[in-house]
Amino acid sequence: MSFGPITGISFVISLLVVLIGTVLRPLFFLISAKTKSFAPKTSSNKPILAISMVASIFIIYASIATLVVVETTQNSRTSMLAFASTLIPCDEIDVAPGANNVILRLDDVQAYGWSDISMRMMKDSISRDMPIVAGVIPKGIEEDYQLVRFLERESCNIEFALHGYDHGAISDFDEVIGEFEKLNYTDASHKLSVGIDEVKHISESPIVTFIPPQNRISIEATAALGEYNLFLSKSGNGYYDYDAKTWNYDDNVSVSAIDVIKTCNETFASGDDLCVIMLHPQDFLDAEGNFTESKYQEYIKLLELIKTSEFTTVRFSDMIALHNK
Ligand SMILES: [Zn+2]
Repeated sequence: MSFGPITGISFVISLLVVLIGTVLRPLFFLISAKTKSFAPKTSSNKPILAISMVASIFIIYASIATLVVVETTQNSRTSMLAFASTLIPCDEIDVAPGANNVILRLDDVQAYGWSDISMRMMKDSISRDMPIVAGVIPKGIEEDYQLVRFLERESCNIEFALHGYDHGAISDFDEVIGEFEKLNYTDASHKLSVGIDEVKHISESPIVTFIPPQNRISIEATAALGEYNLFLSKSGNGYYDYDAKTWNYDDNVSVSAIDVIKTCNETFASGDDLCVIMLHPQDFLDAEGNFTESKYQEYIKLLELIKTSEFTTVRFSDMIALHNK
């Protein structure tokens, strides 16, 4: 169940009509009672009667409205937030793929795990008229009300991609194994199904992409993606795989904005029309795990450089639509 802006606006208008009606009638009685204060009192209980009548009508109305909102979705708290977010319609950015397209792929968007940084990153791209793709870890996402409210409010400019189910990594001696790296078809399909369900609780926007944790996925799990019409974005040379990243995992250092742009320019020079940039909220932490503003400013610089390079920022769905015409 999703709420369009009409739902919220019509609810407010009807509420105003009821409220004005509620206030006007007893007010009329109060004024008319005052003007007749020297006359013999014949109708002194009328205002109280009127107030209690309209108050009852208002309470019944509010109860029914709340019941409708709560009962039409599975999670009452989230649905109320979703409903509230429809009061301010999302201002959609115009997206039309050009010759050189960039996708901002923000991985690890999850409940409480650096979600404040993720939200800031999404806000900063949207405020520059650049849509962004949120690689969401579905498990427990609904519990982070602040994040849910933000994602709902900006849902027209944030495309959701599924980033595993719980992003659980298994350590096999020294090697880290990704959540979908060794899964068989049945287990992968089950995880995808429950993941999609959890994300659908917070947004009805279609999910078109799967980003495997650790960017690695088994052949059987890849086959299971077809069941849910999911395109794959991992590490490699596939069209939707990431081309550039803001963190160098070999040396554990940040990649400068200029180097990211350089990589994208090389991608375009090779004849590709799409450069996927992988981002993580953790990219801006120091060795102790504290957020570092100076590191974050490199992200702002990247956004500005994408603009001045005249790259078009798109979503996976825009490129999929373009190439499947
Ligand atoms: Zn991840």
